[in-house]
Amino acid sequence: MGFSTDAIHAGQEPDPATGAITVPIYQTSTFVQEELGKHKGYEYARTANPTRVALERNLAVLERGKFGYAFASGMAAINAVMTLFKAGDHVLAGHNLYGGTFRLFERVLRNFGLTFSYVDTSRLEDVQKAIQPSTRLLLIETPTNPVMEITDIAAVGGLAHAHNVLLAVDNTFMSPYLQRPLELGADIVIHSTTKYLNGHSDGVGGCVILNDLALAERLKFIQNAAGAILGPFDSWLVLRGVKTLAVRMERHNQNGMAIALFLAAHPKVKSVHYPGLPSHPQHELARQQMAGFGGMLAFETGSLENAKKVLKAVRLCSLAESLGGVETLISHPATMTHASVPAEDRRRIGITDGLVRISVGIEDVEDLIADLEQALATL
Ligand SMILES: *Cc1c(COP(=O)(O)O)cnc(C)c1O
Repeated sequence: MGFSTDAIHAGQEPDPATGAITVPIYQTSTFVQEELGKHKGYEYARTANPTRVALERNLAVLERGKFGYAFASGMAAINAVMTLFKAGDHVLAGHNLYGGTFRLFERVLRNFGLTFSYVDTSRLEDVQKAIQPSTRLLLIETPTNPVMEITDIAAVGGLAHAHNVLLAVDNTFMSPYLQRPLELGADIVIHSTTKYLNGHSDGVGGCVILNDLALAERLKFIQNAAGAILGPFDSWLVLRGVKTLAVRMERHNQNGMAIALFLAAHPKVKSVHYPGLPSHPQHELARQQMAGFGGMLAFETGSLENAKKVLKAVRLCSLAESLGGVETLISHPATMTHASVPAEDRRRIGITDGLVRISVGIEDVEDLIADLEQALATL
């Protein structure tokens, strides 16, 4: 089946009890058994809940994977993946990871004996050099937030596998509509469903998709044992959001490109980071690896003062963290999402004080451009 058909139907049979076309919210903690050992496949809702199972099947199909597991947040999903490993194991990760992931690694998981190091994963030779004998996992994000660096998933996957290292891709920025890492050789795909998958800025969640049976069984065991599951109502919200993923992503692509072009041509804008622009240093790789360039971009205003002015002047774009929703959000990475990154490291990864990030929504693009136009006019 095609992607849109799967998005609407995969994992979702009409409800066996009533014929309801929409998977019901099974708001229950337990399931009555007919006799000892005889039940309908559900016993206790931490282990399995029909609404969550429908979502897990749906997301697995969209990522073209065999197994899916839904968690209480993107961070809970990443934490569950990390507990596949043990003290002494080394994890190699991108040098510009989502801040919450970096915080989990450095301030929580280090205490349990996992070791971490960070590398620019867009540079294959650097990745090669950074792999250690104890390395078990390579975790990447592509594109990165907010400077939109691209990593060649197939190439780093080949490198990882040559050293018996698993490749995990946090695919939150792209969604499976625009990029499917498992098809490119990744072993594990992670999402914050909070972003594009749910898409409506009204829920927090996460998921993990994989193909290997042994790894999947271990992760399912961890999901039940540690218990950071996605609840039935939140699972239902993501199921509902995903039905329109394809049409939303098409509009995010169109609006993202239109705004990138507008900003690139604006005299007050010094530079624009968007993989869809031919000026992006990895534009060719982006074209090969991604089915569209998405709705995330960042642009340089030149100074903290200028960034402040723009963020104060916008009216339609909302000043907020997060991304991937239908509404356009604008933010200042240096003081918001990346505030915990030391200034020196921020400079190294290109997050200047004048950088402004936009999660381009699906409003009428003329209205968004008019808003940015009047905000830039204050400079
Ligand atoms: C938001 C985000 C996360 C964390 O997800 P939560 O749902 O907020 O816990 C992880 N990775 C990326 C790339 C994100 O954007």
